[in-house]
Amino acid sequence: MRIDILTLFPEMCEAVLGESIIGRAQRKGAIEIKYTNFRDYTDSKHGTVDDYPYGGGAGMLLRAQPIYDAFMAICAETETRPHLIYMSPQGKTLTQARAHELSKLNNIAILCGHYEGVDERLIEEIVDEEISIGDFVLTGGELPAMVLVDCIARHVDGVLSSEECYKEDSHFSGLIEYPQYTRPASWRGREVPGVLLSGHHANIEKWRREQSLVRTLSKRPDILKTESLSEKDKEFLKKFSNI
Ligand code: SAM
Repeated sequence: MRIDILTLFPEMCEAVLGESIIGRAQRKGAIEIKYTNFRDYTDSKHGTVDDYPYGGGAGMLLRAQPIYDAFMAICAETETRPHLIYMSPQGKTLTQARAHELSKLNNIAILCGHYEGVDERLIEEIVDEEISIGDFVLTGGELPAMVLVDCIARHVDGVLSSEECYKEDSHFSGLIEYPQYTRPASWRGREVPGVLLSGHHANIEKWRREQSLVRTLSKRPDILKTESLSEKDKEFLKKFSNI
């Protein structure tokens, strides 16, 4: 998968995405991340990419031309038309399910806004989807773009050691994950649940499923979709109807 990030601050994204698991994934070729500074495409002889909003108001707005030309250059270079996502607090909130769907695409491009955002006509002309990382406003789209790239990349083959790593994580199946423990078995008087030391795989699986159900019910009842639960799950949850 190739991901193109259109930004005024490529170094900011490169520094973060070049580290740890996502950095390693790039070095071994599982994903490719390219950065385009759309300032390089401005037709302004002063190198500006922003201007005052028509009608007045606070702040500056990104002009359509540099971003459009930068995106066209990416289309020409990749010989395709990447799915273009604009990071925006006005977009649909990012979910694990949407990140998983996006991970199946070969080419995506992500536009990071700045200042007051971008000229609306640019969105109408080339943006395929607007994604928000939550109902709050940041100064720029770089942090949201990095969140999106990290979340998508975890679903791409070869990025994590196995599919299980993300399939068992919170939100993949609509539940949050069961609690986990590592050595020592006893720490400050707190014991690891005995079933995890038993070596009995079926019992461990059952315990983990039940823990996921109870945790979701108590911590995130808003995401618990009873229609996707088995009869066994529902029967088990009846015991906790007081949560
Ligand atoms: N004036 C815009 C509005 O009210 O919708 C907000 C602009 S914000 C200050 C500047 C840029 O940061 C946006 O263009 C967007 O790219 C990014 N941004 C800010 N908050 C975001 C969020 N919650 N999710 C995704 N992107 C965000």
